[in-house]
Amino acid sequence: MITREEVLKALERITDPAGGKSVVASGMIEGLVVKDGHVAFAIEVDPKRGREAEPLRKQCEDAVNALKGVLSVTAVLTAHQGRKPEAPRPPQPAGIAGVANIVAVASGKGGVGKSTVAVNLAIALARQGLQVGLLDADIYGPSVPRLLAIRDKPRQGEAGKLIPIEKHGIKTMSIGFLVDEATPMIWRGPMVQSALTQMMNDVAWSPLDVLVVDMPPGTGDAQLTMAQRVPLKGAVIVSTPQDLALIDAKKAIAMFEKTQVPILGLVENMSLYVCPQCGHESHIFGHGGAKATAKAMGVAFLGEIPLVGRIREMSDAGTPVTATSPQSEEARTYYTVAAEVARTFAAPLRAAPKIVME
Ligand code: ADP
Repeated sequence: MITREEVLKALERITDPAGGKSVVASGMIEGLVVKDGHVAFAIEVDPKRGREAEPLRKQCEDAVNALKGVLSVTAVLTAHQGRKPEAPRPPQPAGIAGVANIVAVASGKGGVGKSTVAVNLAIALARQGLQVGLLDADIYGPSVPRLLAIRDKPRQGEAGKLIPIEKHGIKTMSIGFLVDEATPMIWRGPMVQSALTQMMNDVAWSPLDVLVVDMPPGTGDAQLTMAQRVPLKGAVIVSTPQDLALIDAKKAIAMFEKTQVPILGLVENMSLYVCPQCGHESHIFGHGGAKATAKAMGVAFLGEIPLVGRIREMSDAGTPVTATSPQSEEARTYYTVAAEVARTFAAPLRAAPKIVME
């Protein structure tokens, strides 16, 4: 198995063009994690260098990738802390024991494909070798039971915790496992918080590299609870390209930013439609709107997912494309998004803001 020392030795040979010294000697390598052949680290650079440092990042990543016994490498650039004074951070709320990263998948409105992205993102991350959980926090309209064709009820484990149900290599929990899909669920403010808290703390998630949270659509109580009470690594925002959806996506981005949750990026879903009969391409909901919005708001753009019948059919059948046809064109963007999300795991975790409860 690959060791930290071997990784550092490989990195020692990489010279930072800005300082003329090795990236290791210059103290630029931060947060190196080596686990079962998976390597992750951050490279600290002056924020002024911005994207100029990208070739250096790639060089470091490639050098480690070339080592024997390395299964995956995630190298991310982080801004030099000495240069940029950080705002004082409130104390960090406790996360979920044994869960290294929590990522929210959110949207400003329903029906844009958020749950489909959450499920496929979770599976794609698991296929990169990470231990992944998927929490269906959409307590008003849980869709994970349908998307993963789960009809079992979770069992209670030894410590009284519910055992998440395993499917396609991920552990998952949904309120829909406990309540019939057709039962309307009426939640009042405090109930929302306690339901979400229970699904995080009273479920045997540990050990996980990442817990993907399928959030309810919108910017209400449930989203605020998650944003304020959970140290989220960040949020992935899903939107369709048309203006109306993007207005809501902007609201979701603003809500996370207000609560100091980093936005990992925006995904454009139902971007391009390719007619299965004639191959003609059309943009039913417009095209490029999410990319432009991401740029305007200064957040990353993670990719475009086409509108294809197969994504819907496979989702509705409980057999997501990332699991059943991982090599397909339809699955490709989900894997790209997963790789981008995984890159952020090496960066230092940002504290969640202090909770103010009415
Ligand atoms: P949300 O969670 O935003 O409400 P869902 O993920 O439940 O949205 O998706 C809504 C519907 O759209 C589902 O029937 C789903 O299968 C379908 N869908 C989602 N993404 C795509 C896509 N890229 N192509 C085709 N159908 C899609």
